[in-house]
Amino acid sequence: MGFWWPTYLSGYPSIFFLTQRSLYVLVIDTGRDDLGHDESNLNYWLQVLELLGGKSPMFLVKNEKNDRGIQIDIFQKKKRFDFLKEDYKLNLNSLIPDTPTFNQKRLADFEQFKVDIQNELKDLPLVGFPMPKNWIKIRDKLLELSQKEYFISREAFIEICLENDVIDFKRQMELSGIFHDLGLLLHFQNYPNLEDFIILQNTWATDAVFVVLDNPIIKENYGKFTENDLVEVWGDKSYNPKVHSKLLSLMMQFEVCYQLDKIKPQTYIIPEMLPSSSPKGYVWTPRNDLPLYYKYDFMPKGIATRLIVRFNKHLSTSDGQQIVWKSGMKIDGKLLDCPETEAEIVETWDNRQIRIRIHGPYAKDLMSKLTFQIDDLNNELFKSQVDNDKINWHKMIPCICKVCQQNEVKHYYEYAELLERKQYGKENVECKMKPYELVDIRSLLEGILVKEMYNPILVPSQKTVKIFLASSSELKDERDQFEIFIYRENKRLIKSGVFLQLEIWEDFIDHVSQTRSQDEYNSMIQQCDVFVMLYFTKVGLYTLEEFEKALSKYKETNLPKIYTYFKKGNIMSTDVDRQSLLSLLDFQDKLKSLGHFQTDFENHSQLQLHFKKQLEKLYEF
Ligand SMILES: [Zn+2]
Repeated sequence: MGFWWPTYLSGYPSIFFLTQRSLYVLVIDTGRDDLGHDESNLNYWLQVLELLGGKSPMFLVKNEKNDRGIQIDIFQKKKRFDFLKEDYKLNLNSLIPDTPTFNQKRLADFEQFKVDIQNELKDLPLVGFPMPKNWIKIRDKLLELSQKEYFISREAFIEICLENDVIDFKRQMELSGIFHDLGLLLHFQNYPNLEDFIILQNTWATDAVFVVLDNPIIKENYGKFTENDLVEVWGDKSYNPKVHSKLLSLMMQFEVCYQLDKIKPQTYIIPEMLPSSSPKGYVWTPRNDLPLYYKYDFMPKGIATRLIVRFNKHLSTSDGQQIVWKSGMKIDGKLLDCPETEAEIVETWDNRQIRIRIHGPYAKDLMSKLTFQIDDLNNELFKSQVDNDKINWHKMIPCICKVCQQNEVKHYYEYAELLERKQYGKENVECKMKPYELVDIRSLLEGILVKEMYNPILVPSQKTVKIFLASSSELKDERDQFEIFIYRENKRLIKSGVFLQLEIWEDFIDHVSQTRSQDEYNSMIQQCDVFVMLYFTKVGLYTLEEFEKALSKYKETNLPKIYTYFKKGNIMSTDVDRQSLLSLLDFQDKLKSLGHFQTDFENHSQLQLHFKKQLEKLYEF
């Protein structure tokens, strides 16, 4: 179990640490006077979890400090947010016997809460797929280590892998990546200075970030701090000086802060703590501006501050000071190959928008580059919704009809919708302003972005491709490899909005009874887009049955696409029995009679390469 502690209500760390397959416990203190504030915080967190929590269950704890209650219409909230399972009235101050505030009933309530949590965790799918046994051993070893170590080195991790037969370095790093995604540890393998740093106690790392965010002196300096400041802030012995630079890299990796150039001692800025209004004397003078905005159905906090971190090398300066504030920034296009061109990006959290305006000779280029980054951040923030049809953010581009060109108030079109119209062969779209002119879609798109940048691939189409993998039990290694391959592909494809959903079938009857029923598998085959079958010395009875089902479905609907892969390899004649061999030959005869050709493979990479090509042909990604 990964245990996260996203207490920092004003935004960012929370959003990074949300993982799916979790149980969330939200604690609100009711001892405060501003109860309205608590309720809006509660609503905020419910919405964040709805958006990013991947349907994970949540418990609400009302911590009744000083035994003061709070009125919240839990029934309504449960109706609206169905993942909100239970609510508890506790008082965390009354749990320690022999203290003045101790209360026996409160302690009993708390014990019940603990039991409920344990029960809920039992029901939680630990991972989305059955883990190989040696992975479980590695996981358990890491959990055991995390009792006494905050972090370990990569070498120590590799050592544990070797002890459990994960020999290859590439596979060791893949495993670390999977554990990272599951919230078991934190390992940023590709980030400089962090590749050798595997964090086992996640709260230890997040607390390190919080103490910086909560430091009064850094607050007073509007988020500016130096290396030397950190020595004081992290003076605690658990944050010994050796790890300071690692923790700082971690903050940069989380996009919590960025480093100012050419200043000694090295100085950093936390955008979240910047002043809330623009610097004194700053005005943006419109000059034939190119505008665009993003609109969010629900806007998580911290989008602007993360954009500030991403664009920090390009912030304009005035008198040596960067033009940047908590919700906005001015950008100089010079280092982005857009000389004499500048942009302003402003977040208006109240109406859930990020607005961009740009002027200068390379306005379109700069718009393309900036929106590419913003799209990327949006895709990252909303990635848990990939298999959900709802798109929660909308890129809005301005109309170019005569009226709109001259008017300050313009009509805006949804970018994704324009692309969709184009894909359906529509050339025009009607402006919603009088006199409702027809506008050419191509000109609209080319009017704001450079041609290469409005490639449909950049649109989050959020398509799920369901793949069913059937194989005989002897091909366990191939199955594991295939699974890792799909996992890697998903990481690569996330930007194009495609999600590969893999269902694995192994022809092994015990497995069925332990996990899923035959009916469940049948319905999965009914729904899948791609059916992949691997076989070697035999074709098991059940694998054959799955194939037959997929085939009959294909004959009706042209789906799923069926791929059969035959593993070529040497085997000892004593290893094969007559019956197995017959099942193989029968199956191959059957394929021939269907006019279907099996693809032979000798190793994982051949199989993966072939399948990847097929996928690319099918889905053009
Ligand atoms: Zn118009």
